[in-house]
Amino acid sequence: MTPDQLLTRPGAALPTLRGAVAGLPPYVPGRRSAGMDIAALASNESHYEPLPAAAAAVSAAAGTMNRYPDSAAVELRERLAGHLGVTAEEVAVGPGSVGVLQQIITGLCDAGDEVIFAWRSFEAYPILVELAGARPVRIPLDDAEGHDLEGMAAAVTDRTKVILLCTPNNPTGVPISHDRIETFLRAVRSDILVVIDEAYVEYAEAGSGPDSMALYRRYPNVCILRTFSKAYGLAGLRVGYAVAAPDIAEGLRRTAVPFSVSALAQKAAITSLDAGEEMEARVAAVRQERARMAEQLEAQGWKLQPSQGNFLWIRADESLRARLVDAFDAAGVMVRAYQGDGVRITVADPASNDRVLRLLEAHAASTIA
Ligand SMILES: *Cc1c(COP(=O)(O)O)cnc(C)c1O
Repeated sequence: MTPDQLLTRPGAALPTLRGAVAGLPPYVPGRRSAGMDIAALASNESHYEPLPAAAAAVSAAAGTMNRYPDSAAVELRERLAGHLGVTAEEVAVGPGSVGVLQQIITGLCDAGDEVIFAWRSFEAYPILVELAGARPVRIPLDDAEGHDLEGMAAAVTDRTKVILLCTPNNPTGVPISHDRIETFLRAVRSDILVVIDEAYVEYAEAGSGPDSMALYRRYPNVCILRTFSKAYGLAGLRVGYAVAAPDIAEGLRRTAVPFSVSALAQKAAITSLDAGEEMEARVAAVRQERARMAEQLEAQGWKLQPSQGNFLWIRADESLRARLVDAFDAAGVMVRAYQGDGVRITVADPASNDRVLRLLEAHAASTIA
């Protein structure tokens, strides 16, 4: 546009973003590029095609897209409630569990309130907290790449409204044990909502993480956050949910953007709950690949913490990170790199995983030995 097309007066003020928005850390999406032989291992998606029953449900529902969806998602909430042994009043759904988490933070935090989470953890956490005008409080991970729950409990102040626990943690894959969370819940004030983000719970070995439903039943300030995006393979449809005390869940439903979970997403999620066995078989295959990769990487000389997610975490200083990113980029293998911290690689099909193993082997020889 040339200056003479501008119709504002010279020097007139223009719209500005709120400070909280202007200062936001940008959300960095997984790298993706069109082209041959790209391995998409940057976003922890399922590499499987959608479950056939879910794809069929979406096709059938496509004929109703001139209509708004059920804004209360009654059928999905009832099915989830039956699945989890709670009431539909205790379930809130949203556009991905990130959408639900935004409802949680905007529903509970006033400007200046504090939200405590581990760092490094899920990149969306600081963004959602700052967007709400609340203050992110990051507690560094411990030496074993896990949550420092003592440090998190010690960081509680009068302004703390929400604490986020991510198990298994994205990006490190380290779970938080049931007993440690229970000890933590006894130590923190009961008016703080403790959100247990279990986006990868299906990939975790039984007993490695918490029995979160048992914790929820005993501690009404617990909120469980889950998603259909990962093991269920519905990342592109955007549907996740929270289980929380009825008044909190009701509040989350009220803060939701109306109709944010489409009818297609609702139908696909309902159908997916019936396809648990198929999902389990896929998850078992990913777990097996995860174990195979971890074993080979250890043999190559890499030091890894056991991951309970569908991804592996390579701790790397800046120089190693930069070299790995270059090598992966050149090979068309898309992974997620975190400045100063390391690289996260999604476990996928055996052929893609083999590419990762070969790339890392070349680097193990030059960086570790
Ligand atoms: C992927 C992920 C989610 C899920 O995001 P959706 O919005 O449900 O797609 C939530 N939490 C963590 C830690 C994740 O890694």
